[in-house]
Amino acid sequence: MKFQDLGLAEPLLRAVREQGYDTPTPIQQQAIPVVLSGADLMAGAQTGTGKTAGFTLPMLHRLSQKAPAAGRRVIRALVLTPTRELAAQVEENVRAYGRHLPLQSMVMFGGVGMNPQIQQLKRGVDILVATPGRLLDIQGQGHLDLSKVEILVLDEADRMLDMGFIHDIKKVLALLPASKQSLLFSATFSDDIKALADRLLKSPQLIEVARRNATADTVAQRTYFTGRERKKELLAHLVKSQDWRQVLVFTRMKHGANRLAEYLEKNDISAMAIHGNKSQGARTKALAEFKAGTLRCLVATDIAARGIDIDELPHVVNFELPNVPEDYVHRIGRTGRAGCEGEAVSLVCPDEELFLKDIEKLIKRQLPRETLPGFEVPSGERAEPIQIGRQTIGVRRSGGGGQRSSRPPQGQNSGRPQGQGQGRPQGQGQGRPQGQGAGRSQAKPHAKPQGKPAQHAHGHSQGHEQPGQRSSRGGPRPALLNKPR
Ligand code: AMP
Repeated sequence: MKFQDLGLAEPLLRAVREQGYDTPTPIQQQAIPVVLSGADLMAGAQTGTGKTAGFTLPMLHRLSQKAPAAGRRVIRALVLTPTRELAAQVEENVRAYGRHLPLQSMVMFGGVGMNPQIQQLKRGVDILVATPGRLLDIQGQGHLDLSKVEILVLDEADRMLDMGFIHDIKKVLALLPASKQSLLFSATFSDDIKALADRLLKSPQLIEVARRNATADTVAQRTYFTGRERKKELLAHLVKSQDWRQVLVFTRMKHGANRLAEYLEKNDISAMAIHGNKSQGARTKALAEFKAGTLRCLVATDIAARGIDIDELPHVVNFELPNVPEDYVHRIGRTGRAGCEGEAVSLVCPDEELFLKDIEKLIKRQLPRETLPGFEVPSGERAEPIQIGRQTIGVRRSGGGGQRSSRPPQGQNSGRPQGQGQGRPQGQGQGRPQGQGAGRSQAKPHAKPQGKPAQHAHGHSQGHEQPGQRSSRGGPRPALLNKPR
Protein backbone atom coordinates (compact mmCIF):
# COMPACT_ATOMS: atom_id res chain seq x y z
CA MET A 1 0.00 0.00 0.00
CA LYS A 2 1.15 3.53 -0.81
CA PHE A 3 0.04 6.85 0.67
CA GLN A 4 -1.75 7.63 -2.61
CA ASP A 5 -4.11 4.71 -1.95
CA LEU A 6 -5.45 6.22 1.24
CA GLY A 7 -7.56 8.94 -0.30
CA LEU A 8 -5.66 11.85 1.18
CA ALA A 9 -5.75 15.25 -0.51
CA GLU A 10 -2.95 16.09 -2.91
CA PRO A 11 -1.35 18.82 -0.74
CA LEU A 12 -0.98 16.23 2.01
CA LEU A 13 0.50 13.62 -0.30
CA ARG A 14 2.97 16.21 -1.51
CA ALA A 15 3.99 17.02 2.06
CA VAL A 16 4.37 13.33 2.87
CA ARG A 17 6.62 12.90 -0.18
CA GLU A 18 8.68 15.85 0.97
CA GLN A 19 9.17 14.09 4.29
CA GLY A 20 10.59 11.21 2.31
CA TYR A 21 7.86 8.67 3.09
CA ASP A 22 5.96 6.67 0.51
CA THR A 23 4.67 3.65 2.39
CA PRO A 24 2.33 4.12 5.32
CA THR A 25 3.25 2.26 8.50
CA PRO A 26 0.73 -0.31 9.82
CA ILE A 27 -0.90 2.17 12.22
CA GLN A 28 -1.19 4.70 9.41
CA GLN A 29 -2.71 2.14 7.08
CA GLN A 30 -5.34 1.33 9.64
CA ALA A 31 -5.96 4.66 11.33
CA ILE A 32 -6.09 6.96 8.33
CA PRO A 33 -9.21 5.42 6.71
CA VAL A 34 -10.99 5.30 10.06
CA VAL A 35 -10.29 8.94 10.84
CA LEU A 36 -11.21 9.96 7.30
CA SER A 37 -14.55 8.20 7.75
CA GLY A 38 -15.32 10.46 10.69
CA ALA A 39 -15.54 7.62 13.22
CA ASP A 40 -14.15 7.77 16.72
CA LEU A 41 -11.00 5.77 17.22
CA MET A 42 -9.25 3.97 20.03
CA ALA A 43 -5.79 3.07 18.90
CA GLY A 44 -3.17 1.06 20.71
CA ALA A 45 0.11 2.23 19.35
CA GLN A 46 3.38 3.15 20.90
CA THR A 47 5.56 6.02 19.81
CA GLY A 48 7.83 5.00 17.02
CA THR A 49 5.05 3.38 15.05
CA GLY A 50 4.24 6.48 13.01
CA LYS A 51 1.08 7.18 14.98
CA THR A 52 1.47 10.95 14.80
CA ALA A 53 1.06 10.99 11.04
CA GLY A 54 -1.65 8.38 11.55
CA PHE A 55 -3.91 11.00 13.11
CA THR A 56 -2.37 14.21 11.76
CA LEU A 57 -2.79 13.44 8.07
CA PRO A 58 -6.48 12.50 8.12
CA MET A 59 -7.22 15.27 10.62
CA LEU A 60 -5.70 17.83 8.24
CA HIS A 61 -7.57 16.25 5.37
CA ARG A 62 -10.91 16.56 7.08
CA LEU A 63 -10.28 20.11 8.20
CA SER A 64 -9.20 21.13 4.71
CA GLN A 65 -12.28 19.63 3.09
CA LYS A 66 -14.69 21.77 5.01
CA ALA A 67 -14.63 25.50 4.45
CA PRO A 68 -13.93 27.28 7.71
CA ALA A 69 -16.56 29.64 9.02
CA ALA A 70 -16.24 33.17 7.75
CA GLY A 71 -14.38 35.64 9.90
CA ARG A 72 -11.65 34.88 12.38
CA ARG A 73 -10.23 31.37 12.55
CA VAL A 74 -11.60 29.22 15.32
CA ILE A 75 -9.99 26.21 16.92
CA ARG A 76 -11.33 23.24 14.99
CA ALA A 77 -8.93 20.56 16.18
CA LEU A 78 -7.39 20.02 19.59
CA VAL A 79 -4.56 17.61 20.33
CA LEU A 80 -3.74 17.02 23.99
CA THR A 81 -0.39 15.55 24.92
CA PRO A 82 1.21 14.75 28.27
CA THR A 83 4.49 16.60 27.84
CA ARG A 84 5.86 19.73 26.30
CA GLU A 85 8.27 17.78 24.18
CA LEU A 86 5.54 15.66 22.69
CA ALA A 87 3.33 18.70 22.13
CA ALA A 88 6.15 20.46 20.29
CA GLN A 89 6.82 17.42 18.18
CA VAL A 90 3.23 16.81 17.27
CA GLU A 91 2.80 20.42 16.28
CA GLU A 92 5.95 20.21 14.18
CA ASN A 93 4.37 17.28 12.40
CA VAL A 94 1.13 19.20 11.92
CA ARG A 95 3.09 22.03 10.36
CA ALA A 96 5.18 19.75 8.18
CA TYR A 97 2.22 17.78 6.82
CA GLY A 98 -0.02 20.81 6.59
CA ARG A 99 2.50 23.08 4.89
CA HIS A 100 0.55 23.19 1.62
CA LEU A 101 -2.76 23.81 3.33
CA PRO A 102 -4.11 27.15 4.53
CA LEU A 103 -4.42 25.98 8.13
CA GLN A 104 -2.78 27.55 11.17
CA SER A 105 -1.51 25.50 14.04
CA MET A 106 -0.02 26.40 17.38
CA VAL A 107 1.58 24.66 20.32
CA MET A 108 0.78 25.62 23.90
CA PHE A 109 2.57 24.38 27.00
CA GLY A 110 3.70 25.60 30.37
CA GLY A 111 7.12 26.71 31.47
CA VAL A 112 7.27 29.54 28.98
CA GLY A 113 5.58 32.92 28.88
CA MET A 114 1.83 32.96 28.51
CA ASN A 115 1.49 36.24 26.65
CA PRO A 116 3.01 35.18 23.33
CA GLN A 117 0.65 32.20 23.38
CA ILE A 118 -2.34 34.43 24.05
CA GLN A 119 -1.25 36.77 21.23
CA GLN A 120 -0.90 33.86 18.85
CA LEU A 121 -4.35 32.61 19.80
CA LYS A 122 -5.77 36.04 19.09
CA ARG A 123 -4.31 35.98 15.58
CA GLY A 124 -6.40 32.87 14.88
CA VAL A 125 -5.61 29.19 15.12
CA ASP A 126 -7.24 26.16 13.47
CA ILE A 127 -5.30 23.40 15.20
CA LEU A 128 -4.15 23.63 18.80
CA VAL A 129 -1.66 21.16 20.25
CA ALA A 130 -1.45 21.59 24.00
CA THR A 131 -0.61 20.15 27.36
CA PRO A 132 -3.67 20.22 29.61
CA GLY A 133 -2.41 22.50 32.40
CA ARG A 134 -1.45 25.52 30.34
CA LEU A 135 -4.52 25.10 28.20
CA LEU A 136 -6.73 25.36 31.27
CA ASP A 137 -4.77 28.32 32.59
CA ILE A 138 -5.28 30.24 29.38
CA GLN A 139 -8.87 29.16 29.12
CA GLY A 140 -9.41 30.28 32.69
CA GLN A 141 -8.28 33.73 31.70
CA GLY A 142 -10.92 33.83 29.01
CA HIS A 143 -8.65 33.63 25.99
CA LEU A 144 -9.66 30.29 24.63
CA ASP A 145 -12.81 29.16 22.90
CA LEU A 146 -13.01 25.43 22.35
CA SER A 147 -16.70 25.33 21.52
CA LYS A 148 -16.05 24.85 17.80
CA VAL A 149 -13.71 21.89 18.08
CA GLU A 150 -14.54 19.25 15.48
CA ILE A 151 -11.72 16.81 16.20
CA LEU A 152 -10.15 15.93 19.54
CA VAL A 153 -7.03 13.81 19.85
CA LEU A 154 -5.72 12.46 23.15
CA ASP A 155 -2.18 11.42 22.41
CA GLU A 156 -0.36 9.10 24.78
CA ALA A 157 -3.50 8.99 26.88
CA ASP A 158 -2.00 6.44 29.24
CA ARG A 159 0.87 8.79 30.03
CA MET A 160 -1.56 11.60 30.70
CA LEU A 161 -3.38 9.50 33.23
CA ASP A 162 -0.15 8.25 34.74
CA MET A 163 0.92 11.81 35.19
CA GLY A 164 -2.21 12.64 37.08
CA PHE A 165 -4.01 14.65 34.40
CA ILE A 166 -7.37 12.94 34.60
CA HIS A 167 -9.05 15.92 36.24
CA ASP A 168 -7.54 18.33 33.79
CA ILE A 169 -8.66 16.15 30.91
CA LYS A 170 -12.18 16.05 32.28
CA LYS A 171 -12.21 19.81 32.58
CA VAL A 172 -11.03 20.16 29.01
CA LEU A 173 -13.65 17.70 27.78
CA ALA A 174 -16.31 19.80 29.44
CA LEU A 175 -15.25 22.75 27.29
CA LEU A 176 -15.74 20.86 24.04
CA PRO A 177 -18.92 20.42 22.06
CA ALA A 178 -20.68 17.08 22.45
CA SER A 179 -20.61 16.48 18.73
CA LYS A 180 -17.05 15.93 17.63
CA GLN A 181 -14.77 13.21 16.43
CA SER A 182 -12.58 11.83 19.22
CA LEU A 183 -9.39 9.86 18.78
CA LEU A 184 -7.59 8.24 21.67
CA PHE A 185 -4.07 6.94 21.30
CA SER A 186 -2.52 4.93 24.05
CA ALA A 187 0.33 2.47 24.34
CA THR A 188 -1.44 0.52 27.05
CA PHE A 189 -5.02 -0.10 28.14
CA SER A 190 -5.38 0.11 31.86
CA ASP A 191 -8.80 0.20 33.45
CA ASP A 192 -8.48 3.96 33.75
CA ILE A 193 -7.89 4.25 30.02
CA LYS A 194 -10.85 2.05 29.30
CA ALA A 195 -12.99 4.18 31.59
CA LEU A 196 -11.86 7.31 29.80
CA ALA A 197 -12.56 5.72 26.43
CA ASP A 198 -16.01 4.65 27.61
CA ARG A 199 -16.78 8.17 28.59
CA LEU A 200 -15.36 9.88 25.54
CA LEU A 201 -15.69 7.67 22.50
CA LYS A 202 -18.84 6.84 20.61
CA SER A 203 -18.84 3.42 18.96
CA PRO A 204 -15.13 3.65 18.40
CA GLN A 205 -13.21 1.70 15.83
CA LEU A 206 -10.43 -0.20 17.48
CA ILE A 207 -6.94 -0.58 16.19
CA GLU A 208 -3.97 -2.12 17.84
CA VAL A 209 -0.56 -2.38 16.30
CA ALA A 210 2.67 -3.65 17.76
CA ARG A 211 2.39 -6.00 20.64
CA ARG A 212 2.44 -4.30 23.94
CA ASN A 213 5.66 -4.62 25.78
CA ALA A 214 7.28 -5.88 22.64
CA THR A 215 10.66 -4.56 21.70
CA ALA A 216 11.24 -3.83 18.04
CA ASP A 217 13.23 -6.39 16.14
CA THR A 218 15.20 -3.57 14.62
CA VAL A 219 16.82 -2.85 17.98
CA ALA A 220 19.89 -4.87 18.89
CA GLN A 221 19.91 -5.21 22.66
CA ARG A 222 23.12 -5.78 24.60
CA THR A 223 23.97 -5.75 28.26
CA TYR A 224 27.40 -5.11 29.71
CA PHE A 225 27.97 -6.27 33.25
CA THR A 226 30.18 -3.90 35.14
CA GLY A 227 30.88 -2.41 38.53
CA ARG A 228 28.69 0.24 40.06
CA GLU A 229 31.44 2.84 39.89
CA ARG A 230 32.78 1.71 36.55
CA LYS A 231 29.73 2.59 34.52
CA LYS A 232 30.85 6.11 33.74
CA GLU A 233 34.19 4.99 32.40
CA LEU A 234 32.61 2.18 30.46
CA LEU A 235 30.16 4.56 28.84
CA ALA A 236 32.90 7.00 27.88
CA HIS A 237 34.92 4.10 26.54
CA LEU A 238 32.04 2.79 24.42
CA VAL A 239 31.21 6.21 23.03
CA LYS A 240 34.80 6.86 22.07
CA SER A 241 35.96 3.44 20.96
CA GLN A 242 32.85 2.76 18.89
CA ASP A 243 32.66 6.34 17.69
CA TRP A 244 29.03 6.81 18.70
CA ARG A 245 27.94 10.22 17.52
CA GLN A 246 24.40 10.47 18.85
CA VAL A 247 23.59 8.68 22.08
CA LEU A 248 20.54 9.02 24.27
CA VAL A 249 21.52 7.98 27.80
CA PHE A 250 18.98 7.21 30.50
CA THR A 251 19.54 7.65 34.19
CA ARG A 252 17.07 7.05 36.99
CA MET A 253 17.60 10.30 38.81
CA LYS A 254 17.97 13.93 37.89
CA HIS A 255 21.16 14.51 39.83
CA GLY A 256 22.59 11.33 38.32
CA ALA A 257 21.90 12.79 34.89
CA ASN A 258 23.70 16.01 35.82
CA ARG A 259 26.71 14.22 37.25
CA LEU A 260 27.02 11.95 34.25
CA ALA A 261 26.77 14.80 31.75
CA GLU A 262 29.50 16.63 33.66
CA TYR A 263 31.70 13.54 33.66
CA LEU A 264 31.28 13.03 29.93
CA GLU A 265 32.04 16.68 29.23
CA LYS A 266 35.22 16.39 31.30
CA ASN A 267 36.16 13.45 29.16
CA ASP A 268 35.76 15.36 25.92
CA ILE A 269 32.37 13.98 25.02
CA SER A 270 29.84 16.74 24.52
CA ALA A 271 26.87 16.04 26.77
CA MET A 272 23.89 17.77 28.33
CA ALA A 273 21.30 16.58 30.81
CA ILE A 274 17.57 17.10 30.45
CA HIS A 275 15.15 16.58 33.27
CA GLY A 276 12.40 18.30 35.14
CA ASN A 277 14.62 20.72 37.02
CA LYS A 278 15.96 22.21 33.82
CA SER A 279 14.30 25.28 32.39
CA GLN A 280 12.29 24.88 29.24
CA GLY A 281 14.93 26.93 27.43
CA ALA A 282 17.71 24.58 28.49
CA ARG A 283 15.69 21.53 27.51
CA THR A 284 14.80 22.93 24.11
CA LYS A 285 18.42 23.90 23.48
CA ALA A 286 19.76 20.50 24.48
CA LEU A 287 17.21 18.71 22.35
CA ALA A 288 17.83 20.95 19.34
CA GLU A 289 21.59 20.45 19.54
CA PHE A 290 21.17 16.73 19.98
CA LYS A 291 18.84 16.49 17.01
CA ALA A 292 21.17 18.59 14.91
CA GLY A 293 24.00 16.20 15.75
CA THR A 294 26.17 18.81 17.45
CA LEU A 295 25.60 17.32 20.90
CA ARG A 296 26.90 13.81 21.20
CA CYS A 297 25.20 12.58 24.38
CA LEU A 298 21.86 13.60 25.73
CA VAL A 299 21.44 12.33 29.28
CA ALA A 300 17.79 12.10 30.23
CA THR A 301 15.44 10.82 32.86
CA ASP A 302 12.49 8.76 31.71
CA ILE A 303 9.96 11.52 31.85
CA ALA A 304 12.14 14.13 30.17
CA ALA A 305 12.76 11.76 27.31
CA ARG A 306 9.08 11.12 26.78
CA GLY A 307 8.16 11.90 23.25
CA ILE A 308 11.67 12.55 22.07
CA ASP A 309 11.51 11.60 18.47
CA ILE A 310 14.65 11.62 16.45
CA ASP A 311 14.80 10.03 13.07
CA GLU A 312 17.37 7.29 12.96
CA LEU A 313 18.60 7.67 16.52
CA PRO A 314 21.29 4.99 16.52
CA HIS A 315 22.13 4.43 20.19
CA VAL A 316 20.24 4.29 23.44
CA VAL A 317 22.11 3.53 26.63
CA ASN A 318 20.52 2.49 29.88
CA PHE A 319 23.13 3.86 32.21
CA GLU A 320 20.90 2.56 34.95
CA LEU A 321 18.23 -0.01 34.36
CA PRO A 322 14.74 1.17 35.16
CA ASN A 323 13.09 -0.59 38.08
CA VAL A 324 9.82 -0.53 36.18
CA PRO A 325 10.37 -2.96 33.32
CA GLU A 326 7.88 -1.25 31.00
CA ASP A 327 10.13 1.79 31.05
CA TYR A 328 12.84 -0.32 29.45
CA VAL A 329 10.57 -0.94 26.48
CA HIS A 330 9.76 2.76 26.22
CA ARG A 331 13.39 3.73 26.51
CA ILE A 332 14.73 1.45 23.85
CA GLY A 333 11.78 2.34 21.65
CA ARG A 334 13.64 5.61 21.06
CA THR A 335 15.88 3.81 18.64
CA GLY A 336 15.18 1.41 15.79
CA ARG A 337 12.18 3.49 14.80
CA ALA A 338 10.23 3.28 11.60
CA GLY A 339 12.36 0.47 10.28
CA CYS A 340 15.79 1.94 11.04
CA GLU A 341 18.34 -0.18 12.86
CA GLY A 342 19.26 0.82 16.36
CA GLU A 343 21.27 -0.42 19.28
CA ALA A 344 20.25 -0.40 22.92
CA VAL A 345 23.01 -0.98 25.43
CA SER A 346 22.37 -1.52 29.11
CA LEU A 347 25.09 -1.13 31.70
CA VAL A 348 24.21 -3.47 34.50
CA CYS A 349 25.81 -3.65 37.92
CA PRO A 350 25.11 -6.38 40.47
CA ASP A 351 22.49 -4.22 42.19
CA GLU A 352 20.36 -4.32 39.08
CA GLU A 353 20.29 -7.99 38.21
CA LEU A 354 16.78 -8.33 39.51
CA PHE A 355 15.63 -5.46 37.36
CA LEU A 356 17.16 -7.19 34.38
CA LYS A 357 15.29 -10.38 35.20
CA ASP A 358 12.03 -8.45 35.41
CA ILE A 359 12.75 -6.87 32.04
CA GLU A 360 13.53 -10.22 30.46
CA LYS A 361 10.33 -11.62 31.83
CA LEU A 362 8.38 -8.76 30.34
CA ILE A 363 9.94 -8.86 26.90
CA LYS A 364 9.98 -12.65 26.97
CA ARG A 365 13.55 -13.02 25.95
CA GLN A 366 16.90 -13.34 27.55
CA LEU A 367 19.40 -10.65 26.83
CA PRO A 368 22.96 -11.69 26.19
CA ARG A 369 25.25 -10.77 29.07
CA GLU A 370 28.63 -9.43 28.11
CA THR A 371 31.63 -8.03 29.93
CA LEU A 372 34.36 -5.88 28.50
CA PRO A 373 37.91 -6.59 29.63
CA GLY A 374 38.98 -3.86 32.01
CA PHE A 375 35.39 -3.08 33.01
CA GLU A 376 34.41 -6.27 34.82
CA VAL A 377 32.54 -6.21 38.11
CA PRO A 378 35.28 -5.73 40.72
CA SER A 379 35.84 -8.84 42.74
CA GLY A 380 34.05 -8.48 46.02
CA GLU A 381 31.35 -6.13 44.71
CA ARG A 382 28.04 -7.48 45.87
CA ALA A 383 24.50 -6.48 45.06
CA GLU A 384 23.23 -3.70 47.26
CA PRO A 385 19.70 -2.44 47.52
CA ILE A 386 18.86 0.65 45.53
CA GLN A 387 17.28 3.49 47.38
CA ILE A 388 14.63 5.40 45.52
CA GLY A 389 12.93 7.78 47.83
CA ARG A 390 12.27 5.99 51.06
CA GLN A 391 11.79 2.84 49.20
CA THR A 392 14.47 0.26 49.04
CA ILE A 393 14.47 -1.68 45.86
CA GLY A 394 16.41 -4.71 44.87
CA VAL A 395 18.03 -7.28 47.01
CA ARG A 396 16.48 -7.92 50.34
CA ARG A 397 18.28 -10.57 52.26
CA SER A 398 16.16 -12.18 54.83
CA GLY A 399 16.51 -15.72 55.98
CA GLY A 400 19.36 -16.28 53.63
CA GLY A 401 17.50 -16.08 50.31
CA GLY A 402 17.77 -13.01 48.13
CA GLN A 403 14.40 -11.52 47.58
CA ARG A 404 13.26 -8.77 45.41
CA SER A 405 11.07 -5.87 46.04
CA SER A 406 10.93 -3.56 43.12
CA ARG A 407 7.29 -2.73 43.57
CA PRO A 408 5.37 -1.39 46.47
CA PRO A 409 2.57 -3.30 48.07
CA GLN A 410 -0.60 -3.29 46.07
CA GLY A 411 -2.63 -0.18 46.31
CA GLN A 412 0.14 1.80 47.77
CA ASN A 413 1.12 3.49 44.62
CA SER A 414 0.24 2.83 41.09
CA GLY A 415 1.04 6.17 39.63
CA ARG A 416 3.93 7.10 37.52
CA PRO A 417 6.09 10.08 37.94
CA GLN A 418 4.19 13.15 37.22
CA GLY A 419 4.97 15.36 34.34
CA GLN A 420 7.75 17.68 34.57
CA GLY A 421 6.51 19.04 31.35
CA GLN A 422 4.11 21.55 32.67
CA GLY A 423 6.28 24.11 34.24
CA ARG A 424 4.41 24.46 37.45
CA PRO A 425 5.66 24.27 40.93
CA GLN A 426 5.00 20.91 42.31
CA GLY A 427 1.68 20.32 43.90
CA GLN A 428 0.16 23.23 42.07
CA GLY A 429 -1.94 22.71 39.12
CA GLN A 430 -0.45 19.76 37.36
CA GLY A 431 -0.13 17.36 40.15
CA ARG A 432 -3.77 16.65 40.23
CA PRO A 433 -4.93 13.57 41.97
CA GLN A 434 -5.26 10.77 39.62
CA GLY A 435 -7.92 8.28 38.86
CA GLN A 436 -10.74 9.72 40.85
CA GLY A 437 -14.02 9.12 39.23
CA ALA A 438 -12.63 8.46 35.82
CA GLY A 439 -16.02 7.44 34.60
CA ARG A 440 -17.39 3.97 34.48
CA SER A 441 -14.68 1.53 35.08
CA GLN A 442 -16.28 -1.28 33.23
CA ALA A 443 -13.92 -2.67 30.68
CA LYS A 444 -14.91 -2.70 27.09
CA PRO A 445 -14.95 -6.22 25.83
CA HIS A 446 -12.38 -5.49 23.17
CA ALA A 447 -9.75 -3.85 25.23
CA LYS A 448 -7.28 -6.21 26.69
CA PRO A 449 -6.80 -5.64 30.34
CA GLN A 450 -3.43 -4.18 30.92
CA GLY A 451 -3.16 -2.74 34.33
CA LYS A 452 0.02 -0.89 34.70
CA PRO A 453 2.06 -2.38 37.36
CA ALA A 454 2.27 -0.60 40.58
CA GLN A 455 5.31 1.52 40.46
CA HIS A 456 7.72 2.63 43.02
CA ALA A 457 6.76 5.78 44.75
CA HIS A 458 8.60 8.96 44.12
CA GLY A 459 8.72 11.74 46.52
CA HIS A 460 8.92 15.42 46.32
CA SER A 461 11.87 15.19 44.34
CA GLN A 462 15.20 16.68 44.27
CA GLY A 463 16.50 13.73 42.48
CA HIS A 464 13.76 11.75 40.92
CA GLU A 465 11.02 12.96 38.65
CA GLN A 466 7.91 14.34 40.23
CA PRO A 467 5.17 12.05 41.35
CA GLY A 468 1.45 12.11 41.11
CA GLN A 469 0.13 12.56 44.57
CA ARG A 470 -2.28 9.74 44.86
CA SER A 471 -2.70 6.24 43.80
CA SER A 472 -5.10 5.52 41.00
CA ARG A 473 -7.48 4.20 43.60
CA GLY A 474 -7.58 7.62 45.06
CA GLY A 475 -5.76 6.76 48.24
CA PRO A 476 -3.09 9.07 49.43
CA ARG A 477 0.37 8.22 48.33
CA PRO A 478 2.92 8.23 51.05
CA ALA A 479 5.12 11.25 50.96
CA LEU A 480 8.60 10.04 50.24
CA LEU A 481 11.86 11.73 50.27
CA ASN A 482 14.19 10.99 47.48
CA LYS A 483 17.67 10.74 48.60
CA PRO A 484 20.48 10.13 46.26
CA ARG A 485 21.96 6.75 46.61
P1 AMP B 1 5.72 8.50 15.75
O1 AMP B 1 5.32 7.12 16.17
O2 AMP B 1 4.60 9.28 15.22
O3 AMP B 1 6.48 9.19 16.85
O4 AMP B 1 6.74 8.36 14.51
C1 AMP B 1 7.95 7.68 14.58
C2 AMP B 1 8.91 8.04 13.48
O5 AMP B 1 8.53 7.46 12.24
C3 AMP B 1 9.03 9.52 13.22
O6 AMP B 1 10.40 9.82 13.16
C4 AMP B 1 8.38 9.74 11.89
O7 AMP B 1 8.97 10.81 11.22
C5 AMP B 1 8.63 8.43 11.20
N1 AMP B 1 7.60 8.07 10.21
C6 AMP B 1 6.29 8.37 10.27
N2 AMP B 1 5.63 7.84 9.22
C7 AMP B 1 6.54 7.18 8.49
C8 AMP B 1 6.47 6.42 7.29
N3 AMP B 1 5.32 6.21 6.64
N4 AMP B 1 7.61 5.88 6.81
C9 AMP B 1 8.76 6.04 7.48
N5 AMP B 1 8.90 6.76 8.61
C10 AMP B 1 7.80 7.32 9.13
